[in-house]
This record gives sequence, structure tokens and C-alpha cells, in this order.
Amino acid sequence: MSDHSTDQRVAAGRLAGKTAIIVGAGQTVGETIGNGRATALLFAQEGARLLLVDRDQASVEETAAMVANAGGEAQVHVADIADADQCASVAKVAMGTLGRIDILHNNVGIGAGDSSPGRLEEDAWDRIIDVNLKAMWRTCKHVVPHMREQGSGAIVNISSLAAIAAATTLTAYKISKAGVNALTQNLALANARHGIRANAIMPGFIDTPMAVDAGAAARGVSREDLARFRISRIPLGRQGTAWDVAHAALFLASDDAAFITGAILPVDGGQSSQIG
Ligand code: NAD
Repeated sequence: MSDHSTDQRVAAGRLAGKTAIIVGAGQTVGETIGNGRATALLFAQEGARLLLVDRDQASVEETAAMVANAGGEAQVHVADIADADQCASVAKVAMGTLGRIDILHNNVGIGAGDSSPGRLEEDAWDRIIDVNLKAMWRTCKHVVPHMREQGSGAIVNISSLAAIAAATTLTAYKISKAGVNALTQNLALANARHGIRANAIMPGFIDTPMAVDAGAAARGVSREDLARFRISRIPLGRQGTAWDVAHAALFLASDDAAFITGAILPVDGGQSSQIG
């Protein structure tokens, strides 16, 4: 008889015994830690063995060194997931190095060159939709068969609050992330009976170099001015950190979220509750 009086999911090492692919495990250079790197460090700390994937070799190797210094275990695979063959190699390499794939964390996202609907150029549209949406779908497509064979798996897709917020100068980015939300729901429904969960996180204003340093440079304002503007929009009165995103990803990837699939979780300091 099963015991319903205690929860069998033990807290110590919330990813102990699990393997995880983190796609986009490097980061844009800057003062603060990026979302993928923080997630890699936290997943390793919680006991997962990792395959770290990025197109930026130096940066993903830096993440792997940080994981190793903290006592974790991570292999590196350099791949541009916008390239079909390189993307297909991710699942193959993961099976070869890790033996199984319990968690797929899709962190890749770009926004450079985006604009309002009227000003956006075709090449920027193509690049952003291709990297943020098509490549994420493609990564899942290659990993899911292995998870189905295992009868289990957890996918965490990094979307953005831009998917549901006013973001008129981020046309392709907003549309790509709205697509990520829809992709996540379809992945969840199509794979629930195979024991695979798929959830997405919509980070709000997070203090990462890609958003703040690169964002300030693109707008021609200082890092401090952009940060002040972002904080003024957030009910909790601060920008998020990559650790806030990483902890949400840890929850969704772990057995703590065993009954959660198809969820789109804002990690935004309350910003999405603020309408009007
Ligand atoms: P980041 O640029 O620091 O990290 C993204 C990583 O993805 C980089 O290492 C980059 O080299 C890698 N990458 C990009 N294109 C790739 C490709 N084609 N193949 C393989 N790797 C590729 O960014 P971040 O600020 O940490 O953001 C990470 C995620 O969080 C993105 O999906 C972003 O859209 C999302 N997000 C961030 C914020 C924020 O405020 N920082 C807000 C909402 C959503």
C-alpha cells in the first residue's frame, strides 16, 4: 500500500542522480551573471551532471570551469543551435556523455537588431525567430525521443515577459517568445502520456549583461539610467537576478514540480500583475 502521509521527494540534492543539458550555458560579457550560467551552477550544486552547450566556446568553457571549481560535473559541447546539423548533435552528444537526458533547459535567446513592426528588417526578423523559436523547437525535437524512451523528462524553456507585455520596439523578440509559450504548451500536451513535462519561464527585467549592458549600449544611455528605468516598473522595487530565474528553473526541472506541466511562470517581481 502506498504511504500518502509523507512526501517521498527528499530535499537534499534536488537534482541528485539526474542529468541535464543546458543550452545557452555561456553568457554575454558584463558585470553580472547570465541566466544560463547561474542555472548551470545551481543545477550542479543540486547534484545534476551537466552537458553545457553554447556557440561561444570561451564563455561556455568558463561556465564549466566555474562548475568544476564548485565541485560539480560538467561537459562542454560547442554548437550553434540555429544550424540544423549542429543542433542535432546536442542530443547525440548528451546521450554519449551522460547516458540519459532527464532535463533539457533551453536558455538561448537573442534580441539584437530588433525594432518596431515598421522598422524591423527582414534579416533581423529571420535571425531572431530562427534562434529563439525554431532552434528551440528543433532542440526539443531531437531530445524528446530519448525522454520518451526513458518514460520521463523535464523541459524548461526560457521565454520572456515580452511575450505578453507591451514591447513595441521588440517585435521579433516578442513574437518569438510568444511562440516559445505556445511551443511549451504543445510539448506538454503531446508528451504528458510519456512522462515528460514541459514548462516555460517568463523572466521580467533581469539584471544580466545581455539585457542591461547591451541594452544600455543599444539605447545610448548609461547602465545606471537603464537600471533605474527598469526598477521603476517593478512592484518589488528591484530588478531580478539570474539566480531568481535559476531557482524557478530548478523548481520546474525537479520532482518538486512533478504535477506541473504546460505552465508559463512569470519571474518578474510582480510586473505582469500591473495592467493599466
Ligand atoms: P546571455 O546572452 O547572457 O546568454 C545567452 C547565451 O546563449 C549566450 O552564451 C549565447 O552565446 C548563447 N547563444 C545565443 N545564440 C546561440 C545559438 N544560436 N546557439 C547556441 N548558443 C547560443 O543572455 P541572458 O540575459 O542570460 O538571457 C538568457 C535568456 O533569458 C534568453 O532566452 C533571454 O531571452 C531570456 N530573458 C532575459 C531577460 C533579461 O532581462 N535578462 C528577460 C527576459 C528573458
